[in-house]
Formats: sequence, C-alpha cells, structure tokens
Amino acid sequence: MTIDILDRTFEPFISREDLEARVGELAMSITSDYEGRCPLFLVVLNGAFLFASELVKRIPLSCQMSFIRLASYSGTSSTGQVRQILGLDGDLAGRDIIIIEDIVDTGLTMQSLLDQLQQLGPSSIELAVLLHKPEALKTPISMRYLGFEIENKFVVGYGLDYEGIGRNLDALYVSK
Ligand code: 5GP
Repeated sequence: MTIDILDRTFEPFISREDLEARVGELAMSITSDYEGRCPLFLVVLNGAFLFASELVKRIPLSCQMSFIRLASYSGTSSTGQVRQILGLDGDLAGRDIIIIEDIVDTGLTMQSLLDQLQQLGPSSIELAVLLHKPEALKTPISMRYLGFEIENKFVVGYGLDYEGIGRNLDALYVSK
C-alpha cells in the first residue's frame, strides 16, 4: 500500500520482516567480532535512532552507548563537508568505536565524522550502516556492517524522514 507524505507518494520498499532479519544478522556479526571487548556505540541522531535500538538490543555484550548529532558550522550549507559533532561525551582514546548511522549517500557526512573522531585517538572505528547508495558515493567509505545497498532513490521510514515526517514507520518506503 502506498503512503502519501506532504507532496510525495511513497511505495513499500523493504518490509519490517526483511529489516528485522538483516538487523539480526548484523547483530550476530558484531557480537562475535567484539567478544571480550566493550565497544562504544556512537549513534548518529536523528535518523539512526530506530536502527540503533533494534540493533543493540540483539547484542548481548557489555557495551556503552553515546548519542551524537552533526551540525553544519554556521555559514556553510547543509552540503558543506565540515560538520561539528554535538553531544560527544567521555574519552574516546583507546576505545573500540562502532558508529551507527542510518544511510550513507555521498559519504561526505561520514567522512567528516570519521576524520574528526580519528583525531581523538580511538583504538578502532567501524561503521554499522543500515542503507548505502553506491551510485551516490563521492568518497570511499568502508562499511564493515552494512544492511542493504539500494538504488539512488529517496527513502523514508524506520527512522528516516521526509520533511520531519515518517520516522516512526516500521518499514522502509521509497519515493515514486
Ligand atoms: P551524505 O553526506 O552521505 O550524502 O548524507 C547522508 C545523510 O543524508 C543521511 O544521514 C540522511 O540524513 C540524508 N539522506 C541521504 N539519503 C537519504 C534518503 O534517501 N532518505 C532520507 N530520509 N535521508 C537521506
């Protein structure tokens, strides 16, 4: 069934069942890769909130979570590459960090985040990303835990919004 949000119509794309199954697989990989360590999950708000909660509740490791936002510096456009990290607390030196992000599109946002985090001296940084649009990528990004590669189309649901709406949808929808 299609849904209308403001001026756009969206059609079903990835079902709740398929999302749950894939998130479960990613959780199993992370659990086995990080056994005996205490990773720090950095959740990039807002879009990753639902993916993150579904993922971490399936990871029975001792771990910590922190929630960050990325803001453009004043004077730069939203496409600007320099993003300020808001909400980062605690010492990242020597930590095993797993960034949880909703979608990597051009990769510029993620590259900016990675560059800044590297300077804080973590022991390792890996990415858990729900969606990736390979056609849109402008800079190489290594995504160790990737949910789905998708076409270069606009999607909503499962944490992702269109003009602030649609984050609560329990499946993914794609713009017609
Ligand atoms: P990038 O810097 O990789 O181009 O931008 C990534 C950000 O753009 C994501 O965190 C997300 O906020 C937004 N974005 C990219 N593609 C989509 C999409 O298809 N749907 C939604 N809702 N947001 C998207």
